[in-house]
Amino acid sequence: SLSDRLTATFKNLRGKGRLSEADVDATVREIRRALLDADVAVPVVREFTASIRERALGAEVAAALNPAQQIVKIVNEELKDILGGATRRIRFAKNPPTVIMLAGLQGAGKTTLAGKLGKWLAAQGHKPLLVAADLQRPNAVTQLQIVGQRAGVKVYAPHPGTTSETDVPTGNPVQVARDGVTEARNKLHDVVIIDTAGRLGVDAEMMQQAADIRTATRPDEVLFVIDAMIGQDAVNTALAFQEGVAFTGVVLSKLDGDARGGAALSVASVTGQPVMFASTGEGLDDFELFHPDRMAGRILDMGDVLSLIEQAERSWDKAEADRMAKKFADQEDFTFEDFLAQMQQIRKMGSMKKMLMMMPGAAGIREQLENFDEREIDRVEAIVRSMTPHERVAPKIINGSRRARIARGSGVTVSEVNQLMERFTQAQKMMKQMARGGGVPGMPGMAG
Ligand code: GDP
Ligand code: MG
Repeated sequence: SLSDRLTATFKNLRGKGRLSEADVDATVREIRRALLDADVAVPVVREFTASIRERALGAEVAAALNPAQQIVKIVNEELKDILGGATRRIRFAKNPPTVIMLAGLQGAGKTTLAGKLGKWLAAQGHKPLLVAADLQRPNAVTQLQIVGQRAGVKVYAPHPGTTSETDVPTGNPVQVARDGVTEARNKLHDVVIIDTAGRLGVDAEMMQQAADIRTATRPDEVLFVIDAMIGQDAVNTALAFQEGVAFTGVVLSKLDGDARGGAALSVASVTGQPVMFASTGEGLDDFELFHPDRMAGRILDMGDVLSLIEQAERSWDKAEADRMAKKFADQEDFTFEDFLAQMQQIRKMGSMKKMLMMMPGAAGIREQLENFDEREIDRVEAIVRSMTPHERVAPKIINGSRRARIARGSGVTVSEVNQLMERFTQAQKMMKQMARGGGVPGMPGMAG
């Protein structure tokens, strides 16, 4: 899978201090193969990898990130960008009704979406009307009527639905669509959702009909519904519909299958239109707002690692990290003053425990993590503050009687002071590794 590929690639990058051109090229090659496997269209892959390469080569080395994390971050950001950045919501008309037209190939999921969208909007206090402007497919009107009934939403269908699979409804779909909008205005529906016909493949007649419906109803949104499993055909289909009906947003359906999101990336990339909704099943509630960031995560399948990286980056004080790196490069000793500073950093990073627990590879240190208690930081601070300035910078002098004094001063037992001394020694070692690897302790891909 894409995720496995990228993970393997990133593994090769572990422990490298910065990105060389060869590293970047090797990684980009893997990303290219992985995206193609995920069914992202070839031209999209080409453009995407070119921009990843450019960014990775020009990337500034962030203090809190190692090279592997940097590439993940870049890939994630680019994916998010292509998918439309922030979640795009429906643009409602200033003067209702808001007209939403659905377009797409037959079987894409338009009629199902009409019900889902209707139910979702009704739950938000809207009063939607579904309009049956698909007079092409046998049973299409009946299907919308059933969907509307289940969704608890009114359906406009002037021509009686057919009951036979072969009996095609009659009437002019453009006229039905236009009348549907009028009906909505008269009956005070504030949203109209127009279901239209599709063909198995793009054809001129179908596209003309969709374009005519668009012209007749002047929709506020034209949603292009596409089956996420469509694969490499996504690009041509999307371009045809963009030219034919100039859609304003994309709905990805059948995301409950094992499509890895390649179609989302392809469509959004070649048309520049955002994915707005995701359909994730046959049920009317299997529908959600599309979140580019989550899809980027799904494509990468790196789970919480991405948010961890962002969190670490936000909270890791670059100046402090640089100071530490320099300190160890200069072979200086790690002192209790440094230890205190590190504690402050950890505090800033929020719940260190929760964070570390989310990481793949945390298994090895899980036991230690289970025992990590943030109140412990308070106790540690109290102990360090009970040390004299000299003791803090020269911990070796802290003998038994000093430990007893420190314990009394901070209200802990001598054994707790002993434990801290032990931990401090470990931290010293860890800081030396950090100075070499340039990463945050415990982060995936961290050297040592
Ligand atoms: P239309 O021809 O574009 O109107 O497509 P339909 O709404 O009739 O859907 C075609 C088929 O796909 C139906 O059997 C739907 O139940 C099914 N379907 C639609 N959306 C989804 C989805 O998100 N997931 C799954 N698994 N099936 C879906
Ligand atoms: Mg339909």
